[in-house]
Amino acid sequence: MSPLTATPSAALVDRQDWVAVVEAQLLGEWRNQEWDQERLLFTGLLDTSVTLAFTCVTPECGEPSRTKESPCYECAQELKSYTGDREAFRRTHRANRSWTGHELQQCLITHDGDRCQRTATNRGLCRSHFSKWQQWQRRGSTFDEYLHDCTDLYARRGTCQVIGCEHEIVTAAHALCGPHDQQFSGHGKMTRSRKRFDEFIVKARPFVRIHQFSLAGMPQGLRAEILYVLQRRDDEGFFVHPTMVRTVIKKCDERNLESLLEITEIEIAGLTRTNTAQRSFLRSARLHLTRLQVRYGYQNPYAGDIWDVAVLGLMASTSRPYLATRGVLDFTEITVAWVKNLVKDWIRHVEPDVVTAGHTIRTAKIASQALLLRTGGHDPTRLRLADMTAVVRDFNLATRPDGLLYSPGTRAQLLNSWRDLIEFGRSTGRMDNVPGDGT
Ligand SMILES: [Zn+2]
Ligand SMILES: [Zn+2]
Ligand SMILES: [Zn+2]
Repeated sequence: MSPLTATPSAALVDRQDWVAVVEAQLLGEWRNQEWDQERLLFTGLLDTSVTLAFTCVTPECGEPSRTKESPCYECAQELKSYTGDREAFRRTHRANRSWTGHELQQCLITHDGDRCQRTATNRGLCRSHFSKWQQWQRRGSTFDEYLHDCTDLYARRGTCQVIGCEHEIVTAAHALCGPHDQQFSGHGKMTRSRKRFDEFIVKARPFVRIHQFSLAGMPQGLRAEILYVLQRRDDEGFFVHPTMVRTVIKKCDERNLESLLEITEIEIAGLTRTNTAQRSFLRSARLHLTRLQVRYGYQNPYAGDIWDVAVLGLMASTSRPYLATRGVLDFTEITVAWVKNLVKDWIRHVEPDVVTAGHTIRTAKIASQALLLRTGGHDPTRLRLADMTAVVRDFNLATRPDGLLYSPGTRAQLLNSWRDLIEFGRSTGRMDNVPGDGT
């Protein structure tokens, strides 16, 4: 079995049309309190039953934590090296979050109870107050004197042009906030060309917290796919897990993916146990996006000899009466063409559950092996009773992968499956001339 060959080829699909197809499925109103369509920013409400984001257990903190009943990341980091009374910490601590790039310090200069509205960049001062401080310093003032005596305050500048970023602009040239300007100039001033800026800005994303993710800075189609999958999963009762979504986005970034369908089933299956949330999301993605492709004619689910059960809409089994979401039906080992076509037709028309389909394919495989050795085996119009007898004999001699004979129950099942197939062939006029009833 090779799930790889059953993976839809994203490259075959006309990207532009596919993007429109996915976008057309999106709900106009989705999680209004959490999803900001304009800013492409998801901010999970804390302590709900639908988003994995909770309030930090440090009472004074109130900030988002990824797990229930535990300190937020920042509190946990500080607790590691905290030497005082841990209970007191829990009661009183307030974490400093400036390092995440999400919260930035405001300029220190105050006057008459008002404060300068600009973002601090140097020694706790905004750029304007810092250059003013350098003048005061040259005139012999101390820093404390300056803080005390400087009376003019500045209004906030505009907002950074990265979609979803709320920080103030600190560099006029590119209209970026401090952290984004740092990101942009990370590779040195020599590369600050217009072209490089254009490349930077299409991929730029705001700095987000544990309960957030941003769908800015990615191809339009990928963004639509992620939203579509999240919305389908909402119907199925899955949490939105912001941290997991950020991990998936990072993976797409690193590999320049344009579609979630470029992530193969083999790769998803290979994710370790610590990645179950990601695995669940990526499986949903494959399932829902592939079904969408089938619905809009981008894929023929019945093409080739390996069919992806996720897109066939078959039940898992009689005891698990829900739609199967993964796995394949593999016809490659059915060596006689008419038998292979017969089984395929049977599955398309009867729509059995996946387990039954698997039994029937196994039956057809054994029958093919028997027929391959018979002179008329390749042609259903030339079959004779002796050919059918040979098939039945092979069912009785068939062995499991470990070399043992199948149980009488399984042998009876093989025979029944074969009868069903032949009966189906007859009833649909495919094989009027097959002799006997297969027994
Ligand atoms: Zn906290
Ligand atoms: Zn200032
Ligand atoms: Zn910014």
